[in-house]
Amino acid sequence: MIGIFGGTFDPVHYGHIKPALSVKQALNLSQLRFVPNRLPPHRAEPWLNAEQRLLILQSALKDYPDIIIDERELKREGPSYMVDTLVSLKQDFPAETLCLIIGMDAFFGITSWFKWQSLLDLCHIVVTQRPGFDVNTIEEHFDNNDYLFIAPRLTTDTRELSKQECGKILLQSVPQLDISATQIRSSLLKGEDISQWMPEQACVQLREFMNDN
Ligand code: ATP
Repeated sequence: MIGIFGGTFDPVHYGHIKPALSVKQALNLSQLRFVPNRLPPHRAEPWLNAEQRLLILQSALKDYPDIIIDERELKREGPSYMVDTLVSLKQDFPAETLCLIIGMDAFFGITSWFKWQSLLDLCHIVVTQRPGFDVNTIEEHFDNNDYLFIAPRLTTDTRELSKQECGKILLQSVPQLDISATQIRSSLLKGEDISQWMPEQACVQLREFMNDN
């Protein structure tokens, strides 16, 4: 089973790294791939450019050999749709089950993703807890028809993912880190220390980019 963790990583922080590693361990994933997007479809242009985001990600993950950086979205033209990424991963790893790992905030917005229902024909989705997003409010975040599609797929039992190739939505507890890239960008602009939120080498790289601008 391969875990896929997509994001803008603008910049990467421990709120990405620690929950993703915890899922790798809990599901005994054979690979964990971080997939930085080139053009995020649902948000404004990133603060750092794609090359800077990638360099910071590479610095941050030097001490995490368990995480592979997958550059396929950076190399692909147009908006970075996850459904296209999963199709391409399926071609590369036809015998593997794919697990898309997303935070609860991203899950609450998933119906706006391009061909969102098709994602579940290609992978399982692993939804990780994130501070401020309550697992008990899932139903409130979807309209009726969408919830009818989602509800039968929900599970909290990791074993369910081995029983079928795709189509389950696993709610998974992970270490809670109350941090976002937005907070890091705002702290940096105020000159505040951000070293507790990301690996030291990545902080150094980030400060260099700030000084260059
Ligand atoms: P921003 O603040 O710029 O929106 P972000 O910190 O939310 O960024 P993204 O790159 O947008 O990071 O998110 C990538 C993925 O990481 C998403 O699935 C998101 O839910 C998850 N994620 C980000 N921060 C955390 C966190 N602190 N805990 C759990 N999941 C997180």
